[in-house]
Amino acid sequence: MWRTLYEMRCKARCWPAGRVLLALALLAGTAASAEPLPIFDTHIHYSSPAWPEYDPPAIGAKLDAAHVLRALVSSTPDDGTLRLHGLHPHRFVPVLRPYRTGVHSGNWFHDAPTADYVAARLRQGSYQGIGEFHLHSPEQARTDVVRKVARMAVERGIVLHVHADAAPVAALFALEPELKILWGHAGMVTPPEDIRRMMDRFANLWAELSFREGEILASGDLHGAWRPLLIAHSGRFMIGSDTYTNSRWEAYEAIIADHRRWLARLPAEVARAIAYRNAVRLFGAGGIERLRD
Ligand SMILES: [Zn+2]
Repeated sequence: MWRTLYEMRCKARCWPAGRVLLALALLAGTAASAEPLPIFDTHIHYSSPAWPEYDPPAIGAKLDAAHVLRALVSSTPDDGTLRLHGLHPHRFVPVLRPYRTGVHSGNWFHDAPTADYVAARLRQGSYQGIGEFHLHSPEQARTDVVRKVARMAVERGIVLHVHADAAPVAALFALEPELKILWGHAGMVTPPEDIRRMMDRFANLWAELSFREGEILASGDLHGAWRPLLIAHSGRFMIGSDTYTNSRWEAYEAIIADHRRWLARLPAEVARAIAYRNAVRLFGAGGIERLRD
């Protein structure tokens, strides 16, 4: 554009000034394209051990440093989620974790009061999901508590964030075919071929890739079946960090940088979809302009 303006206004003797303008315009273009890809992190926790180390503004600063614009947060207990969401309602998407004193990954699905606890919290808050919770077998996905929780998710149209391998996820869809599931860590150890089978089978299955970044980029490039999988289902993968310990918060910037390394090896549109657009489609942009493109 600068060159066009210059040519309209100047004759040949103006060239030096025109070249300066052109160079400035090119520099500005380079700076814009060098801006890191925005990330929507769909797996953060702000559980009680993090509270004395990082207050909510410090968590916001961690995200800023990693150029993470929006994040899905859950915590043990739930109060951490409410604190972050209370401070930055546009930045943090609250997800209700059923864990609290005495109720944890190993027993929540058998704990009858947990269904009432989840129902009461859902009535009060603006949660967009329930989780992240763990299921270690398909049987654990069929308890009364899990049936009730799955029903609540369907009735509200919100997502379940599930840490499980493929069989419990399939069991949840058998209970409630209308469920929307965000599959934590894409099953953690589930091979890409099996993830693909699950995504082919269940249209309402999305997966976040926390803890998978090392495997995806194992050999300096996208490894084995990962590239075709990420491209085939580019509309359903998302980025996650999983800050379940303080050491993960310490390493936060490096974790997100590792994700950016494999994203950079994908076609630009696929990378954008996985970095933030898929999450925006599911959880909204929170009014954040940069996430709207
Ligand atoms: Zn997990």
